[in-house]
Amino acid sequence: MTPGPSLTAPTMGESQIVRCPYCHETCEVWIDIDLEGSFVQDCEVCCRPWVLYVQRNDEGDVHVDVTRAQ
Ligand SMILES: [Zn+2]
Repeated sequence: MTPGPSLTAPTMGESQIVRCPYCHETCEVWIDIDLEGSFVQDCEVCCRPWVLYVQRNDEGDVHVDVTRAQ
């Protein structure tokens, strides 16, 4: 598994690779530039719901945690 080419557009957002807590497949999620906090998204593989927590550091780097939505 290698990340795709990084053609990130700073004004739009960026993609992040996350691992599904249910089926353990890796999926790409799009993080909008102004998105921070938590949101719900379904797994593309098994269609079960995630809660994604988006955090940014002072340099604007994005970190995403995924947990099961229950
Ligand atoms: Zn899944």
